[in-house]
Amino acid sequence: MKFLSFLLLFISSVYAVEVEKLPWPKGESFLTFLEANKIPQKLYYDLDKEAKELCSEIRAGIQYQQLKNENGELLQVLIPISEEMQLHVYQEENSYKFDLKPIIFEEIIDTIAIPIKYSPYQDILAHTGNAKLANEFLRAYSKSVNFRGMQPGNYVALKYKQRIRMGQYYGTPQIISAMVQVHKRKFFVFKNEKDGRFYNEKAKSLTSYFFKTPVRYSRISSKFTYKRWHPVLKRYRAHLGVDYAAPRGRHIYAAADGKIVFRGRKGGYGKVIEIQHKHGYKTLYAHQSRFRGGLRRGSKVRKGQHIGYVGSTGVSSGPHLHLGLYKNGRAINPLKIIRVTKTKLKGTAKKKFIEYTKVLSKELLDTIKSNPKPLKLEPIDAKTILEA
Ligand SMILES: [Zn+2]
Repeated sequence: MKFLSFLLLFISSVYAVEVEKLPWPKGESFLTFLEANKIPQKLYYDLDKEAKELCSEIRAGIQYQQLKNENGELLQVLIPISEEMQLHVYQEENSYKFDLKPIIFEEIIDTIAIPIKYSPYQDILAHTGNAKLANEFLRAYSKSVNFRGMQPGNYVALKYKQRIRMGQYYGTPQIISAMVQVHKRKFFVFKNEKDGRFYNEKAKSLTSYFFKTPVRYSRISSKFTYKRWHPVLKRYRAHLGVDYAAPRGRHIYAAADGKIVFRGRKGGYGKVIEIQHKHGYKTLYAHQSRFRGGLRRGSKVRKGQHIGYVGSTGVSSGPHLHLGLYKNGRAINPLKIIRVTKTKLKGTAKKKFIEYTKVLSKELLDTIKSNPKPLKLEPIDAKTILEA
């Protein structure tokens, strides 16, 4: 008995300094988290506007990691806000500090060819163990090709980028090019890096899905930046959206058809509406003075529908609309997507793109002949590992 109690004490003292991985609770904000851990709120209020906005990027359910001492005092916490960056709060000389820390991963490019036995989804999954890749493949074709005509022995081939962390798949893979054989025909898709859209070998866009600028603005007061190292401040900075300066009260419109998935306050972003769209896109409209009446969570909205009014709620130096755009939960530059309004490339852009697709098509077809073994890893469950 004496031995057992000694053992329990030993285990608990070991566990007390172990890193805990926890899902971020629903309804928890950065401020309530500080409060719960008896960390002075001054830490948050002293942050600049950009960093305060990033604190509002924390999503419920995300895996965060913390380290506490035996008295339950928080020593360190890492909270991912994107696939690439995490908020870091840590104790140093009896006070708490804040910084933004990059998440470390490697990125590989793989080209694979898979003979079909059941369906593209099942066979990609069986060969790679990568469900997100199988999903992205279907999304790339977004029902433009009917896979039912496929016969056993037909091939799918694809080239993609995948992030890997601790020997596991990390984040959403990015398809660069793909081919699917249906009976005797071959259907290709190619990602255009300039606008993030898929095109065919004739440089014709495969989705006629466009976003509208959601406000009549006077100027863009802040652009999108992802993980920028500031040489003077010697720290990372980021702005996960675009700021449109516009007078208070000006109408805000839905950038595309979709469904409202959030309507309420969100820390530094103030009054926020989030709309889920097709193809894995989501938009976020921050700092609103008020919402348009009659809309709630779950409401369907049309592109161009009035949803709210420009304001400066949350942290904001003047009335503006902060627009965030996410693809599969990953922040992307809204301007890259919104400025695209054509379904066809023209002139030299078209010529260059067609040349590019020829190289990629050949590569896919060669891969079918050489038939290399696809990479197969486990998907990562925790988003990050503590490494400070
Ligand atoms: Zn902003």
